[in-house]
Amino acid sequence: MLACLHDFDLRLQVSAGSSTIYEVTMWTYLALPSIRLKNVGWAMLDKMIKLIVLDADGTIWSHHDASALVAPFEIVSCDVIQDKYHSTVRLNDGIREFLNYVRENGILLSLASWNEPENVFSLLSLFGIDGFFVFPVVEPHPNKHVMLQKIVSGLSQRGVKVLPEEILYIDDRDVHLEEIRSSVGNVKFLRYGVDVGNWYDALDKVKCVIVRRRSL
Ligand SMILES: [Mg+2]
Repeated sequence: MLACLHDFDLRLQVSAGSSTIYEVTMWTYLALPSIRLKNVGWAMLDKMIKLIVLDADGTIWSHHDASALVAPFEIVSCDVIQDKYHSTVRLNDGIREFLNYVRENGILLSLASWNEPENVFSLLSLFGIDGFFVFPVVEPHPNKHVMLQKIVSGLSQRGVKVLPEEILYIDDRDVHLEEIRSSVGNVKFLRYGVDVGNWYDALDKVKCVIVRRRSL
């Protein structure tokens, strides 16, 4: 059990290389109201998540390589799109609810996707979710840390300062995390499909932070 704020800070540092331990530690901490009220004021929790950055392939939608799709695209249903050769892209369960809740509660959303941008932006637009993302970065290289830096820089130029600790990054793979943490800082991380089974799970975790923040 966490005994004081110093212990909490120490755990964040020690577990920085393990997304799962970090994440569990954070939510466990938030679930302990007596300790929370004793040691943490509004300012700290208010800073906990200011920006959520999502991966696209395998995270927002089921398809694992949007760059391989061939336009034109056809809307099959509100959550399903097909390309010229009938390859299917399906929005993952709960993503619309997640995006809506996060935006309504004042947390910024952005996108970092290793893809050719044209297909990704077409899909976002056809699914009707493109408007949720500020400074989305879609580039054909694996350097997610560079994309996150661009997002943070873009926000900064608009007068919105976001610290690394205030960013929650959600991706179905953790291969980019080490570079992100060494270049950007101690970004929080949830692995889609592992730390959260779907977007309803992710929504529950974000709700937990927001509700507890309000209750302080
Ligand atoms: Mg992915």
